Amino acid sequence: MKNNVTVVCGGGGFIGGHLVADLRRQGIGPIRSVDVKPFDGWYQKFDGVENLVLDLQDKAACERAMQGASVVYNLAADMGGMGFIENNKALCMLSVLINTHLLMAAKTAGVDRFFYASSACVYNGSKQTDPSITGLKEEDAYPAMPEDGYGWEKLFSERMCRHFREDYGVKTRVARYHNVYGPEGTWDGGREKAPAAVCRKVIAAKLAGKHEIEIWGDGNQTRSFMYIDDCLKGTQMLTHSDYVEPINIGSSEKVTINQLVDLAESIAGVKLKRNYKLDAPKGVNGRNSDNTLIQKVFGWEPSIPLRTGLEKTYAWIHDQMVSQAKSK
Ligand code: NAD
Repeated sequence: MKNNVTVVCGGGGFIGGHLVADLRRQGIGPIRSVDVKPFDGWYQKFDGVENLVLDLQDKAACERAMQGASVVYNLAADMGGMGFIENNKALCMLSVLINTHLLMAAKTAGVDRFFYASSACVYNGSKQTDPSITGLKEEDAYPAMPEDGYGWEKLFSERMCRHFREDYGVKTRVARYHNVYGPEGTWDGGREKAPAAVCRKVIAAKLAGKHEIEIWGDGNQTRSFMYIDDCLKGTQMLTHSDYVEPINIGSSEKVTINQLVDLAESIAGVKLKRNYKLDAPKGVNGRNSDNTLIQKVFGWEPSIPLRTGLEKTYAWIHDQMVSQAKSK
């Protein structure tokens, strides 16, 4: 029988959940969504999808997940924002088991496409010391000096994808995501990333009437943030393309963390006193996506303005916090 299942690994997570939703909207099926979390921890879960709880670090679980698979999106990883990845390096590196076992099982199952979600954390740290950085080009990953732990795992797994393609003909595609944000993702608990954390802190200050906010670092570090809809579009475009090298999928709208806070404050209609926690994990000083290559290959780049995406994210987190407070 011909393989026909689209498999989303990490489907209980933020990007995976949105991807399943988007595949359904397009009428693509059958879909299988796989995650290690029990169902009640999935951000999104849909009827008509084969939902499986499996630990994809395990090879037999990967073999089950790959049965009949034609297109595979590997979005499963143990990850979080800077606070998480700086303090959980071994856990982050263990995600190497997921991609390795998935690739082995995908090769045996004869999948047609295999997408791997890499990260801007693969880029050489020495190229990210200046907040006024213009943008990281794909070649800036080498010579290798990625983020310790999480970034090394991503870089190694990128190369596993390359060699499975070159040696075994598995059609792997690799995106280097730069900070993705949006509703239906982690916003508290320690794994959340900057946009969600900033929204949560601003909402908490507003709801409590205590007009103060803690910011990690001096707030001058720069980043770019990609709204989830752009991420989904770029991911599927790359997966079905003939482009085989790792490529940036990220916004090039660079802001300082202080500017991110300005935006959240203006959405909330408050002004907060800023307390800078200089010894908190803050990552590199400057990071942005250079989109020359994606423009050249696809004539497209992520372009949803930060303000537009942050308004939607803020509104969703606000609803979560209000309903959580009511249920207490
Ligand atoms: P997420 O944490 O919301 O989703 C990842 C999912 O993988 C989680 O639901 C988790 O339970 C699942 N998972 C972890 N270990 C597993 C295992 N052993 N078996 C099965 N499932 C397992 O994260 P996300 O933001 O949706 O990220 C998806 C992918 O994109 C990850 O590979 C991440 O490293 C990458 N990425 C994300 C960003 C971002 O800003 N969100 C940036 C760069 C790269």
